[in-house]
Amino acid sequence: MKHKIGFMGLGIMGVPMAANLLKAGYPVMVYNRSPEKGEPLVKRGAGLASHPKAMARAADVIIAMVTGPEALQDLLWGPNGAGGAFNHSKVFINMSSVSPGYTRELARELELSGVTFIDAPVSGTKKPAEDGALVILAAGPQDKVKALEPVFLAMGKKVIYCGAAGQGSMMKMFVNLLLGVMMEGFAEALNLGKLGGLDMDAMLETVFSGAMNSPMFQVKAPLLKENRYPAAFPLKHLAKDCKFVVDTAFELGAPAPVAHTILHLYRAGVAQGWGDEDISAIAKVLEHLNPK
Ligand code: NAP
Repeated sequence: MKHKIGFMGLGIMGVPMAANLLKAGYPVMVYNRSPEKGEPLVKRGAGLASHPKAMARAADVIIAMVTGPEALQDLLWGPNGAGGAFNHSKVFINMSSVSPGYTRELARELELSGVTFIDAPVSGTKKPAEDGALVILAAGPQDKVKALEPVFLAMGKKVIYCGAAGQGSMMKMFVNLLLGVMMEGFAEALNLGKLGGLDMDAMLETVFSGAMNSPMFQVKAPLLKENRYPAAFPLKHLAKDCKFVVDTAFELGAPAPVAHTILHLYRAGVAQGWGDEDISAIAKVLEHLNPK
């Protein structure tokens, strides 16, 4: 029997992820703070709950894909929160990007309800979410993660088991630090080359022809070329994740000098009003610092 899925958080990632669960034949009940975002899913057969608790009552596997801790706290423990319907027979999977420290706190909060908690953020943006090609960084009881593999593989191409709850979020810190550094490094190098009079296409050809080539650079290059940054991964979310990385590094005593620098730069992008644009809009932050 297919699990009954409850899905809350219908943003850039949540809509295609829930659509892929429907496509795989799972019955899906959705909830979103702004209910109109659920309409395309309702057209494909999803139920639309009027509050998170109703969604959680109707499901045995509840998935959250929201901005971060504040949104999760509201949806779990706010009025008609999903947490009120959790019990031993249900599984709660948080796929939103949050810090490992918050995840461990959440695990403790959830323990009282008896719900099985899986910490499973994802690597991959809008296109992999649409293509069902996300990489799922799953943590929690290993037998439960294994049993839920068909659910994960409806949304992703791979499940990487990371350890106890908190370690999925830790893996997300690891990979998003690398993402933030690579994105900023790519934009910074291109900005330097442009100021030095190099041709954009020639610079890109140089990167793509050598050991520096990366699929991420290839996806972001057209945006940087055209100075147009429609969000696949909003810059404000990477700024949030950089803050979680810096906090986590501080707790661990890990040196993270570049993480601090990129946090400052991505936050500057948010402060300039570019938070809803793609992470590649970090190029505009650097341009802003160029001599006038
Ligand atoms: P998004 O498009 O900004 O959507 C955010 C979702 O969170 C929306 O459903 C929003 O509801 C909900 N939300 C925010 N604050 C809320 C609150 N206080 N109460 C209830 N709901 C609230 O974000 P996204 O890009 O889908 O990202 C979702 C998560 O995945 C984030 O943690 C992000 O860091 C992570 N992630 C994103 C990407 C990416 O490429 N986009 C890739 C990997 C991981 P409304 O619709 O009502 O605003």
